[in-house]
Amino acid sequence: MHPTLAADLDRLPELLQSVRDFAAGELSGIGERPASTARKAPDPEPLPATGVGAQGALERFARRWQPGFSGSAGPRYLGFVTGGTTPAALTGDWLTGAYDQNGSSAGGSTVDALERETLGWLRELFGLSEAHRGAFVSGATMSNTVGLAVAREWLGERLGVSVSRAGAAALGPVDLLSGSPHSSITKALSVLGVGRDRLRPVPLLGGDREAVDVVRLAEELDSLNGRPAVVVANAGTVNTVDFDDLRAIAALKERYDFWLHVDAAFGAFAALSPAHASLVEGLDAADSICVDLHKWLNVPYAAAVQFTRRQDLQLRVFHNESPYLGPHTGTPDFLHLTPENSRRLRALAAWFSLTAYGREGHAEIVERCIALARRLGEGISAVPGLRLLAPVRLNVVCFTLADGPTPERLGALARAVADSGEAFLTPTVLHGTPALRAAFSNWRTTEADTDRVRDALARATRELFTDPITRE
Ligand SMILES: *Cc1c(COP(=O)(O)O)cnc(C)c1O
Repeated sequence: MHPTLAADLDRLPELLQSVRDFAAGELSGIGERPASTARKAPDPEPLPATGVGAQGALERFARRWQPGFSGSAGPRYLGFVTGGTTPAALTGDWLTGAYDQNGSSAGGSTVDALERETLGWLRELFGLSEAHRGAFVSGATMSNTVGLAVAREWLGERLGVSVSRAGAAALGPVDLLSGSPHSSITKALSVLGVGRDRLRPVPLLGGDREAVDVVRLAEELDSLNGRPAVVVANAGTVNTVDFDDLRAIAALKERYDFWLHVDAAFGAFAALSPAHASLVEGLDAADSICVDLHKWLNVPYAAAVQFTRRQDLQLRVFHNESPYLGPHTGTPDFLHLTPENSRRLRALAAWFSLTAYGREGHAEIVERCIALARRLGEGISAVPGLRLLAPVRLNVVCFTLADGPTPERLGALARAVADSGEAFLTPTVLHGTPALRAAFSNWRTTEADTDRVRDALARATRELFTDPITRE
């Protein structure tokens, strides 16, 4: 063994203590650390010929890289839809690395059963029936990709071809209908050989809504003259967290032949709030479902789940036969269900958090985030120069400048807030109007944090756009 490696092995307990102290320091200060950083990355250094040992590496990391890391795990990073890591999830994640189990199959361990137990809990959390089977994947993009891969195989079944054998071309042109799909849907269509251009946008309800017009969806399906299609319903859009009417869409299955995939990346968590659970009524009727976990479950990157009622088709797409893997019988191993073969045991962090806080603890995070988004929405409505672009439907506040909302002016506002260190928000465009979004999905965020975000926005708006001295 290399002497530096041997020395690290000898002092592994001390090393773990040292990194524990470092992480504890970082996390106890996360609330005051700037939400984002505009620092430049350090100059590249050459590959070390002689290593410095793990303690030396920690010191170098602290010197070179730590200053540029953002506070994205903290309470006022409201860009995109960014979760955090609950204490229990971090515990599980640390152990995931420590055990370093391969979650591909049993492989002489019970890790596959732990993943199945966790999947069962998540299924229950989101109100899904046992007809849904699932697996952990790396994020909602991958979950959507897996769901649409199963949809593609189903189209083959309907048309009498095996896509997993003959290829996507055997299907001919595929019709995928959706109202406000996430960008990862078109990415998935590209990856799957269906093609980005096969997405047929369906008109929305109008006004500030991002939900699909189900009447128009029915007309589109009708125009296919019986050709099977894929419908992607959206349960929680990123701009305004709007929800398609899942029950009404599912009811169309009585008349039309389509696979229903629901992207509920973070919207599925509405099921944890009695006042909002009706938004995801009908979710169980989906043929495949995407739920992200590194967002509102607050487990570390990279984790999501996919569920489907047709695990038999999923197995056809992803099965991985080789004599060295042995025969597969009964419950399929995860390597026959997901794009990866070897897999990180992502389920362990979720298992820890669900075990530690239960349904009630996670429901409290969801309820609090919703209340805080409302609070910020009300605060922003009262800030001169800002206005909401849509009501706060769940956990995202979508707003813009009352006068002259150009991408440049909104970019300047977002930058000023980020430079203050107080918060991080990201830009978007809603029905042609440039806007900013503040998404609440971190377990740490409090009312005081929310008021700081409102104050930072009010200050920056005043200084940039209304102060007579600096007025443009
Ligand atoms: C975040 C998100 C995705 C993509 O998730 P990743 O985890 O970034 O891959 C897909 N759909 C919706 C609705 C999302 O919010």
